[in-house]
Amino acid sequence: MHWQSIPVSVTRNRRARKVWLRMRAGSGLEVVLPYRVSAADVPAILDGHRQWILARFADLAARNEAPGQDPLPRLIRLPFCDRTYHVCRDMGARTELRAGEGVLQLRLPPGAEMGGISLLQRWLVDQGKRWLVPVFRDLAGHHDVEVSKVQIRNQITCWGSCSPSSCISLNAKLLFLPSDVVHHVILHELCHVQHRNHGSKFKARLREFNPMSDQHEDFLRKAWDMVPGWTKMNRKERAL
Ligand SMILES: [Zn+2]
Repeated sequence: MHWQSIPVSVTRNRRARKVWLRMRAGSGLEVVLPYRVSAADVPAILDGHRQWILARFADLAARNEAPGQDPLPRLIRLPFCDRTYHVCRDMGARTELRAGEGVLQLRLPPGAEMGGISLLQRWLVDQGKRWLVPVFRDLAGHHDVEVSKVQIRNQITCWGSCSPSSCISLNAKLLFLPSDVVHHVILHELCHVQHRNHGSKFKARLREFNPMSDQHEDFLRKAWDMVPGWTKMNRKERAL
């Protein structure tokens, strides 16, 4: 394909210091511009990166995540809980999801793929409550850390977070990662209950909890690519 036929959206970010290019599942190329760069420069910027753009677009297409491709998965594998689900689809008047043992039955009106994606994302959050919360409670109990609340969400940019009131949020996408790495993310957030920053006391405590913490942090930097695109899509992105 010709690289110029890839859909492009341009946004501005106050905090951007340089131009960012991102290839996004379901929507194509996103260009993030700092305010000092003119939108008129975009064609030349893209021209200078066309090899990268084509290669990333080919990656999306190979995963069925390019714009215009069917974004719904046929199979969902959750390594954390060692479960595999086949997604079976049929047509219906309403968007519905029924979960059975190893099968997700998705009923959709024609053209309602994004509605199906939303239902699967909600299902994923429910799976997070089922599988991540008990492990979280065990680890918090084992290390004697008091937490006010734990919640499962489908965050866009972080695996977990800890609020000043010790409410910990975990990302349902953790279900796509191996369990030792998920344990690491949980221990990381538990350490934040006592140490709010990533300073030396925090690091020492985390290494005490998990001697492999440095290796697991390295693993996490590349782990977003292990998460399928349908978990990251939203209606807004699709509309761009
Ligand atoms: Zn942290």
